[in-house]
Amino acid sequence: MQNQYIKEMLDLPELQIHQIVPMSADEVHIEVTPVTYKQDCPLCQSDECVIRKGNNHPRKVQHLPAFGKKVVLIVPTIRMHCSSCEIGFVWMYEFVGPKRRYSHLFRERAAEQAFSSTAAHSALMQQAPTSTVHRLHNDVVLVESERLSKQAWKQATESIGLVLGGDDFAIRKGHTYNTGIHDLKWETLLDLLSGRKLENLWAYAQWHPHFLQLEPKAVVMDLAKAYHTWISECFPKAIRIADRFHVHGYVIEALQEVRNAVQSTLSP
Ligand SMILES: [Zn+2]
Repeated sequence: MQNQYIKEMLDLPELQIHQIVPMSADEVHIEVTPVTYKQDCPLCQSDECVIRKGNNHPRKVQHLPAFGKKVVLIVPTIRMHCSSCEIGFVWMYEFVGPKRRYSHLFRERAAEQAFSSTAAHSALMQQAPTSTVHRLHNDVVLVESERLSKQAWKQATESIGLVLGGDDFAIRKGHTYNTGIHDLKWETLLDLLSGRKLENLWAYAQWHPHFLQLEPKAVVMDLAKAYHTWISECFPKAIRIADRFHVHGYVIEALQEVRNAVQSTLSP
């Protein structure tokens, strides 16, 4: 069997393939070992005094599926010993975290897929339990949302001619309102703050000094007085723009009132 091709497909350069064992119609086990014989000691960072001390029970690590089959790597747990530091350690693999049952690539792929579909669908595609994909996805969402938030703030802070948007939105069926702060040029959400009253807005600005460091050229918002007061305090130089959606709403409302008042006095 051309293990070399399979190795290419696995995309795990640190491993060599020894045997491919079909387990069932939809599952295959691949026995692998590290390509190198020794590994640096984690203390002295050298492999000079490192020797192998035998293997513990091998690990099963699920990797990306291939040709519709679930792929499980059978990975030796190799005990190592550094005679210079007098410590023992087990072989560290790059493709999988310690004690993890899924390879890094598998985790990434499963989480990515869950982004664009559902966890159940991703689980089906990756041949893993839905609960596992859910967990992987949640892990990634946390990291990803932090990264995107950092990126959005960086863009807003460095932006020339920054235009901010502030708007409230209802949660709990309209009983509670929160405020979203957007960078309208980059079309990103910068932050969400609870409430829409002046005291909520003040509290936000007080606890988020980087917000006050922004230099917006203009701020777009509805006609709520609290927003206008708040923004004129935070960014006295910024132009305050009443957004078209709300102005439009008020114009229509006023027009209806006039129509209601005069329609009975006019001929059909
Ligand atoms: Zn050592």
